[in-house]
Amino acid sequence: MDKCLAKRKAIMVLSEETIVDSSKQSRMEINLADLPTDPGLRLRIWDYNPNIRDEVRRAYLLKGPCQPRNHEFPYTNFGTKPRRFNPAWFDEFSTWLEYSVNQNAAYCLCCYLFKPNIGAQAGGDSFVGLGFKNWSKKEKLRIHIGGVNSAHNQAWSKCAILLNEQQHIEALTIKQPEQSNIDYKIHLNASIDCVRFLLRQRLAFRGHDESETSNNRGNFIELLQFLADHDKSIETVTFKNVAENLKLTSSDFQKAILNAVATETMELILSDIGDDFFSVHVDECYDVSVKKQMSVVVRYVDTRGHIIERFLGIEHVPNATSIPLKTALDDLFSRHGLSISNLRGQSYDGASNMQGELGGLKKLILDENRSAYYVHCFAHQLQLTLVLANAITVFEKNKLPKLSMNLI
Ligand SMILES: [Zn+2]
Repeated sequence: MDKCLAKRKAIMVLSEETIVDSSKQSRMEINLADLPTDPGLRLRIWDYNPNIRDEVRRAYLLKGPCQPRNHEFPYTNFGTKPRRFNPAWFDEFSTWLEYSVNQNAAYCLCCYLFKPNIGAQAGGDSFVGLGFKNWSKKEKLRIHIGGVNSAHNQAWSKCAILLNEQQHIEALTIKQPEQSNIDYKIHLNASIDCVRFLLRQRLAFRGHDESETSNNRGNFIELLQFLADHDKSIETVTFKNVAENLKLTSSDFQKAILNAVATETMELILSDIGDDFFSVHVDECYDVSVKKQMSVVVRYVDTRGHIIERFLGIEHVPNATSIPLKTALDDLFSRHGLSISNLRGQSYDGASNMQGELGGLKKLILDENRSAYYVHCFAHQLQLTLVLANAITVFEKNKLPKLSMNLI
């Protein structure tokens, strides 16, 4: 409820100090002057879009910690003794200690702004989330500061760096000549477009010979060259017109963009699945370097009732026995926050390592979740049927004895 109120407060009318969060998921216009002051009513800093997060942090730092000194601090019983927040602590810990009138709890400003996002941040002595309320243990305030490398001191250093405009990344970029920034963006966008095109068309990126004298430098570089040949603004910022270390054509660069696209795609798939039930198809085979690998596809029903199948990824496994396959599947699930308790179906080929009743992957998963029903993969069934039909045709054509089903 408080969070909703705070969120509503954060969606403000435009003004000179307004910044726009232009993410696709949430379009918010935030007036920095109207950010909630009470630490118990604020949004978590990680709930702000990364594009505006530093602006919000700077606004809070410039405001300073919330220290309502004239408030009538309420008492809480600790054993037989009533205790309350002591406003004198504001003098002792003036740079970071905050008090929430709404929550009757103490908070730390720098930890709120920079403590790493570790999911639900519980109260206790953490001075974020639910805040600190143990008024009988004032020493916890000093313990919270900790040593040189404590979480609090690291957060404090980040606050100091953020406030130092000279070191701020935006200040550094502004120092760059404006035209070179524009050129770099044109170059980068053209390269990203090439990556997206090749991914959509499922084409290979690299060429056997990517040197400047090569007749075929691979799809990525050839496509970028094609764009440059047809667009003057791209031509002037690519290839021979940029510095040697700024060509954005290296394999490392291509992989970096690929990884970014893969991460974005995976996030979309996972957010589509949400906390709903899903099934998995798993199959394993050798790659071109004769390394065993396992491919995983998820199948689920989206919010509109459509059945969706999405490829989750390929995992290398030491061998194709059921235990390494199960371990790799567990790793994949934990990496992407998928729970095996939400698994409602599993589908493999008929091999014993997969559907074996005693030690197959199916059995290992059923031991953990009885609701993960097994279905023989229909594509494999079709393939077996076609092989059988073909074998029967060959036998009949050559007038061989009738084929026993058991031989197949
Ligand atoms: Zn702190």
